[in-house]
Amino acid sequence: MLIFSLTTKSVLDSKSKLMNDTLTKSPKVNLLGLSQKQLGTLLEELGEKPYRVAQVMKWIHHRNIDEFQEMSDVSKKLRDLFDDMAEIREPEVVSEFVSVDGTRKWLMRSESGSLIETVFIPEDDRGTLCVSSQVGCVLDCKFCSTGKQGFNSNLTSAEIIGQVRIARRLLAEVYPERKRAVTNVVLMGMGEPMLNFDNMIAAVDLMMDDLGYGISKRKVTISTAGVVPGINKLIETTDASLAISLHAPNDELRSTLVPINKKYPIAMLLEACKRYAANLGDKRTITVEYTLMHKVNDQPEHAKELSELLKGFPCKINLIPFNPFEGSGFKRPSTMAVKAFKERLVKTGYNVTVRTTRGEDINAACGQLVGVVEDKTRRQEKYKLIATGAA
Ligand code: SAH
Repeated sequence: MLIFSLTTKSVLDSKSKLMNDTLTKSPKVNLLGLSQKQLGTLLEELGEKPYRVAQVMKWIHHRNIDEFQEMSDVSKKLRDLFDDMAEIREPEVVSEFVSVDGTRKWLMRSESGSLIETVFIPEDDRGTLCVSSQVGCVLDCKFCSTGKQGFNSNLTSAEIIGQVRIARRLLAEVYPERKRAVTNVVLMGMGEPMLNFDNMIAAVDLMMDDLGYGISKRKVTISTAGVVPGINKLIETTDASLAISLHAPNDELRSTLVPINKKYPIAMLLEACKRYAANLGDKRTITVEYTLMHKVNDQPEHAKELSELLKGFPCKINLIPFNPFEGSGFKRPSTMAVKAFKERLVKTGYNVTVRTTRGEDINAACGQLVGVVEDKTRRQEKYKLIATGAA
């Protein structure tokens, strides 16, 4: 029994190291969210041989088990120990919406009790899963409805990777003819991934790990509103792809749209990205996201300024026509205006794509992901007052 309680203590110590500042009510370690390295450390503490890591990971991530007793090539002693102190727990799927264009959105309950959203966008030759990293967001970008919801908490790494595990399982039934339904993952759902760094990285590691979800590093994209210290930390941590939400060609305008720009202005942001891209080598580029808003940042002079700003910056540009939501105060530019903006950039030598709006009928488009967030910043209340002119 002594060894049992010692082990329990050490597992719980590891758990507190692994959970960071995330809300979690369960006293058990959720093995679903442990990267290969983290699981290795845990198993070593439990006196297990290194080869156990691959066995356990395959059961969890390839064979989708929920019960430890199903791990038939793992000793009974370890299975019983896991039963005692560990768990494999995904977020609970509360509802599924299917768009006329095939886009799917799931509402999932996080441990905080609030609901988060995950979106799957099928295309002929690939399937992109857009996952959430936080419940709500603190950054308050002016054109984003998630931002308007305020912030509640970080997701655990199990909740982040759980979205991938659930989608892969449910989609295997929808697309039996596809070898893999989820070929790409973008951290572009609710939240700012860099502000939940350790949990996000553990989940990203699992996405790219062959013992996890085996998705290529070029097809896992972390998107940030510009949290520069996060990008700097990323350089030492991962080789996943990076996207930045630029949305404006100068600091004056960007600070009004993306308030974090006041802390980390454009020059600082681009500099950090350059270092990230250089460190990856291999001609890797950064994706520059630019949400086009009518008469705000979609004028010919903005295109010109953007093209000058990004000279020599290793990037491709992804234009996102603004997705409207009630009370936003912004409008989507016409298709002609989007095309004209794109052409101006293409003419100056950039690789530019326009993100087609998908899943609009089920509110699954960029910036429309709101879930149901119990806001701890009380921003929603403030926003309602402003939107109704009462403040
Ligand atoms: N916090 C991360 C991920 C957010 S969402 C980030 O900021 O990058 C992914 C993209 O959708 C971001 O570029 C975001 O700025 C953009 N977006 C947010 N609201 C939008 C809206 N209403 N219409 C179009 N794009 C939006």
